[in-house]
Amino acid sequence: MRWVIVLSFWLSGCVSFHPLDKQWDREAKPSVTAVDADAPVRRPRPTPWQTIGSSVQGRPLRIRRIGHGPRRVLWIGGIHGNEREGALTTDRLPAAFAREPGAAEQVTLTILEDANPDGTAANTRGNANGVDLNRNYPAANFVPGPRFGRFPLDQPEAKALYDLVLAERPHLVIVAHSWRDDHFINFDGPALDLAERFSRHSGYRVHASDRFAPTPGSLGSWVGRKLQIPILTLEHQRGSDPLRCWLATRRAILSVILKA
Ligand SMILES: [Zn+2]
Repeated sequence: MRWVIVLSFWLSGCVSFHPLDKQWDREAKPSVTAVDADAPVRRPRPTPWQTIGSSVQGRPLRIRRIGHGPRRVLWIGGIHGNEREGALTTDRLPAAFAREPGAAEQVTLTILEDANPDGTAANTRGNANGVDLNRNYPAANFVPGPRFGRFPLDQPEAKALYDLVLAERPHLVIVAHSWRDDHFINFDGPALDLAERFSRHSGYRVHASDRFAPTPGSLGSWVGRKLQIPILTLEHQRGSDPLRCWLATRRAILSVILKA
């Protein structure tokens, strides 16, 4: 390092002897930087937040991306407003992704901050119209009703995420939820191997969707079963410390994101 500093002094001294030779100055400096083996490794950074739509009450629906690889993964920080255990994961994920060697070359990770910001603000499961957005998708099992929507995608939040999925055509979707007295990883579509991989790295048991009560018009039904895109529904235990949730599933989340 010391000789680099000495060389830098010598070069800056040269500049003072040749004040008009700006071209030489510009060309010489990069060569000094290039041989500095102690320079910090450049880590990928997430893009600024970008608004892709608005909620019923006008709150922005925001995404950001990190990485530029061919594998496209969509992380959704939450869709039920009273299930915010995964919100810290949404904050921590870009830096953890950036620390994984080669991740940015393998994967383009798109992060949807919150699919239901009105519900989050009010701490309600549904949006400001009282509709469960996770029942508002055009799956074969959609059921109209006051809590599910009169027709698929009649809620602006659901339509914005629908448009995002069709534009991105992700190879994997992961969405954060919480469950009242348990934690597990649920899946729809061709995602059994990814769910099992997630389970190995986290200890969260795998629960297939057919173990539950029907979930008509759910995001999993549309993305997983209709579009045949693997989707993992991550259920933390309701009320858990978000930091614990992140630490317990960090390795598992990265392992399924990076799986080619
Ligand atoms: Zn939920």
